[in-house]
Amino acid sequence: MSSALAADAASLSLADRVVAAVRRVTKGPAALHEPDIAGKEWAYVKDCLNTGWVSSVGSYVDRIESMLCAVTSSPHAIATASGTAALHTALLLAGVRPGDEVIVPSLTFVATANAVSYCHAIPHFADCEDRTLGLNAGRLGVYLEELTRRDGGACVNKRTGRVIRAVVAMHAFGHSCDVEALAQVAERFGIVFVEDAAESLGTTYKGRHTGTFGRIAALSFNGNKIVTTGGGGAVLTSDADLACRAKHLTTTAKTPHRWEFFHDEVGFNYRLPNVSAAIGCAQLEKLDEFVAAKRRLADLYTEAFAGVTGVSLVREPEGSRSNYWLNVLLLDSATASQRNRILAAANDAGLGLRPAWQPMHVLPMYLDCPRMALPTTEDIFRRALCLPSSARLGRR
Ligand SMILES: *Cc1c(COP(=O)(O)O)cnc(C)c1O
Repeated sequence: MSSALAADAASLSLADRVVAAVRRVTKGPAALHEPDIAGKEWAYVKDCLNTGWVSSVGSYVDRIESMLCAVTSSPHAIATASGTAALHTALLLAGVRPGDEVIVPSLTFVATANAVSYCHAIPHFADCEDRTLGLNAGRLGVYLEELTRRDGGACVNKRTGRVIRAVVAMHAFGHSCDVEALAQVAERFGIVFVEDAAESLGTTYKGRHTGTFGRIAALSFNGNKIVTTGGGGAVLTSDADLACRAKHLTTTAKTPHRWEFFHDEVGFNYRLPNVSAAIGCAQLEKLDEFVAAKRRLADLYTEAFAGVTGVSLVREPEGSRSNYWLNVLLLDSATASQRNRILAAANDAGLGLRPAWQPMHVLPMYLDCPRMALPTTEDIFRRALCLPSSARLGRR
């Protein structure tokens, strides 16, 4: 580089340098995440429409469930109308009852906390760690040691007198959280371990698929996830009884009969429509390809940002083979004040950069919920920027 050019680069603002680096990868305008419909989606949907099996029953629902079992090695998968519905079902099956507390990360999409509220339980917010952006297992253990006592089998919050029934670990942006250590903490305190694997389809930890470490897990196939059904989700579990209960609860708790409508409890209309499942089957056939493209995209961003000081990219933590659902750029503490300027410049340039979610403990409906100190959550929120991460950007 000539000295004139070097001086020029130095005079560029951080926002300009980030926009230039992203553009080097995207080559043009790019949304945060777009679905990739390039397989047999049309054919399978047409098949649904031709046969008239568009709605609540049909072969594609069975097919997506067995494909999910194959992909994740989970013995059971139950398709649902959304990831949020899957989370709600998972928490009910974990035994969460009105008045219980459930540990959830504050750094998550709002659905994780909302699912707790749907059970008339109270979210209890825990901090994440820098390394995985998931729950910090070490700090959670120390916190529960101090906060809880055992009463019979149950883990009771000494301050509120409520039972802490479950902990929901979330695999953030497609990176596995410290899932083994977290499962151990849950076990030590007699708390049910649940995984929110909405973002981590295709991600493994030490070779084992995320969503198979807890008693029960939720996946999402929303339009912005790595695999989409338009809207949809799934419950994963290794427990045959829980799998039966999940199917029952998500299909209005109707008992099987040739013609009678008999429902033996208050169930939910949480089933995945067959036409959505058809799209999902075609998408799942491409999962390996999507993961490969997104992993390549992560490498392209790493190259593009190599010379940009003041920022770093989140790379997969040790143990995780990540799907890189979203690439995350972290501003240094010294450059964090530039966040909004970078967001404005990038969006003006047609690049769909987004911040992380506002932490749960600052949302109006969750202000008064119990929580531990959340310094890392607040720090990450100030410094994180999600980069355009569609699979197409990583295709050769
Ligand atoms: C997308 C998402 C969900 C919810 O999924 P929907 O299918 O949109 O209901 C839940 N948790 C996390 C972490 C998510 O990213």
